[in-house]
Amino acid sequence: MTDRTDILIAGAGPAGLAAACVLGAEGHRVLLVDPAAPVTGEDAPDADLRTTALLQPARDLLAGAGAWDGLSPYGTALWTMRIVDASAAPPVTRDFRAQDISDAPFGWNFPNWLLRRELLARAAALDTVETAFGASVRSIFAREAGIRATLSDGRRVAARLVLASDGRDSPLRRMAGIGTRRTEYGQTAIVFAVRHAIPHDDISTEIHLSGGPFTLVPIADDAGGHRSAVVWMDDARRQAERMALDDGPFLIEAQARSADVMGPLELASRRAAWPITSVLAERWTGQRLALMGEAAHAMPPIGAQGLNTSLKDVAALRDLCRAEDIGSAEMLAAYERGRRADVAIRMAGVDLLNRTSIAGLGAVQAARAFGIAALHDVPPLRRAVMRLGLGAVVRPE
Ligand SMILES: Cc1cc2nc3c(=O)[nH]c(=O)nc-3n(C[C@H](O)[C@H](O)[C@H](O)COP(=O)(O)OP(=O)(O)OC[C@H]3O[C@@H](n4cnc5c(N)ncnc54)[C@H](O)[C@@H]3O)c2cc1C
Repeated sequence: MTDRTDILIAGAGPAGLAAACVLGAEGHRVLLVDPAAPVTGEDAPDADLRTTALLQPARDLLAGAGAWDGLSPYGTALWTMRIVDASAAPPVTRDFRAQDISDAPFGWNFPNWLLRRELLARAAALDTVETAFGASVRSIFAREAGIRATLSDGRRVAARLVLASDGRDSPLRRMAGIGTRRTEYGQTAIVFAVRHAIPHDDISTEIHLSGGPFTLVPIADDAGGHRSAVVWMDDARRQAERMALDDGPFLIEAQARSADVMGPLELASRRAAWPITSVLAERWTGQRLALMGEAAHAMPPIGAQGLNTSLKDVAALRDLCRAEDIGSAEMLAAYERGRRADVAIRMAGVDLLNRTSIAGLGAVQAARAFGIAALHDVPPLRRAVMRLGLGAVVRPE
């Protein structure tokens, strides 16, 4: 027997979950498939301990789908982005303040496991959304009129559109014969939480020296005091050595790399390591198929662009599903046209920032320190950069 739905979403990571909430709230029948149920508890061994700063446009998208009320009590507001170039003497520090361009914070930071929990709860509350956890999409077969997918549990599903939200190594992208452009940076991000005596004052601090940024993003205080989530990018070999260290020696290195901006640090979580790669799909669509999230574009974690860019894919798909025949060639062409240029510009910007942050050469470091000051100290330029970082869409000519 074949089940029928409007949209089959392959992958229940944060991007697929958000797509299910948004498209389900629009009244489309959605089937969300993933070989593993989302991990929604902080203490689970495979909990995703990263945090995500959801920027203003992401808040608007999720609020429109009824998914923000559950999240908002847990978000930590980000009012200021502080950039410190610690290679300069004295260090160059510049604050980019949300009040300069808006009466709301840049965004709100959430633990990823909590994001999954609240998005899943919203999806479960929608009677348009069905889930199939424990099964993966094994094959897809598209015709002009529709697409059929076979799941690993033998179930067959007919849909008008399949959304591949199955991550940076996307099996569906491979099934559709879509290649990628990949950049291996030779870096690893170590993520962990810290406590610190100094309050974070809703400031996210990005410290540049060499090897990649060291970023402290505010998370909610708890009974133990002030906390931040750290993303520390550096050469992969050095990071492997650091991951092998016991907590004590690891903390000494982290403290030194933090330039003491938050005072003495204390580890407040286990550590996790993420290799840094960027991936851009050569095409974003196939017949009755659209790639989204990291299946279409993955980039280094700088400037909170990753998942926020994926949520802009979701917003574009929502709008096109309102205006066009779902899954039609016209809809898919409009999707690819609308999203590619914005993502390409964003990826180029993140790539440039990462490469300048990797630099250990004095001349490049001096240029970086000068660049940070120049971007900040010219008010129209500063506001333009902040708006772009916040998600102002770059449209093709
Ligand atoms: C260190 C780090 C920090 C980051 N910080 C930020 C930040 O502050 N802000 C931000 O916006 N972004 C950030 N990002 C990026 C963000 O975390 C990712 O974009 C996001 O988690 C990826 O979500 P996704 O849903 O696209 O993919 P994934 O989370 O990889 O989900 C893919 C899902 O697809 C499933 N799947 C695989 N194969 C199949 C199949 N055949 N059928 C069905 N399902 C399948 C998998 O089981 C998985 O659940 C960060 C990334 C890193 C590495």
